[in-house]
Amino acid sequence: MGSSLYRRVVLKVSGEWLAGKKMNFIDPQALTIISNEIISAKNLGVELAVVVGGGNIIRGQFASTGVIDRVSADQMGMLATVINSLALRDNLESRGIPTQVLSAVHINALTQPYTKREAVRHLQNGRVIILAGGTGNAYFTTDTTAALRAAEIEAEVVLKGTKVDGVFDDDPVKNPAATMFQALSYSEVLKRRLKVMDLTAVSLCMENGLPIIVFNLEKQGNLKRVLSGEKIGSRVGG
Ligand code: UDP
Repeated sequence: MGSSLYRRVVLKVSGEWLAGKKMNFIDPQALTIISNEIISAKNLGVELAVVVGGGNIIRGQFASTGVIDRVSADQMGMLATVINSLALRDNLESRGIPTQVLSAVHINALTQPYTKREAVRHLQNGRVIILAGGTGNAYFTTDTTAALRAAEIEAEVVLKGTKVDGVFDDDPVKNPAATMFQALSYSEVLKRRLKVMDLTAVSLCMENGLPIIVFNLEKQGNLKRVLSGEKIGSRVGG
């Protein structure tokens, strides 16, 4: 079965990732892939908190066109993360994984309000927790949510699952000559504005000594490999 190098981790999955290759709302295949990865991670005995994005539905920054206020657009974005979280919860639960959605935006009929205490209690009781509603504040992102929640619940690492193998010096989709970093410092990421997570998230991780591992979530078994300590993806800090 193997074992995890970490006791407690935060996994960030973007909404765009959930939309799959067809980039269409929530792709059933993408949902199944992420559930498979979560199930194999759970089998290693790790405590897993998943922060889900909402970019497949709406991103506040792009939606606030003058007819919608930025704060309202961001609130819509936070609601989008709740929609994605409910989809992931259902998929996991239908496969026998006890799961709890905790939301920073209080929608009590559908989710439990997020508090550190509840989050830790659910983790200790063997549930996967899905952290919805972002930070609950406009002008932030779910990357920052992942960094913030990781610090709060005392996770040991932030895992950012992406569609590429790690952090590159250029866009690997557009430039096949782009090279991947295996390890880099927070200040290198901040200085070169490398596309790891947004700058607020990286700063928060730096201030709290939280390593970030960026890895390809599309390759089957990769989450388990990262947790087992295999050197895949790019590691920032630590
Ligand atoms: N959002 C926000 N505050 C937060 C987290 C998210 O206002 O703390 C809003 C913001 O509009 C953002 C949207 O929710 O664009 C979706 O989140 P994000 O862009 O991080 O999703 P992802 O890119 O990971 O799919």
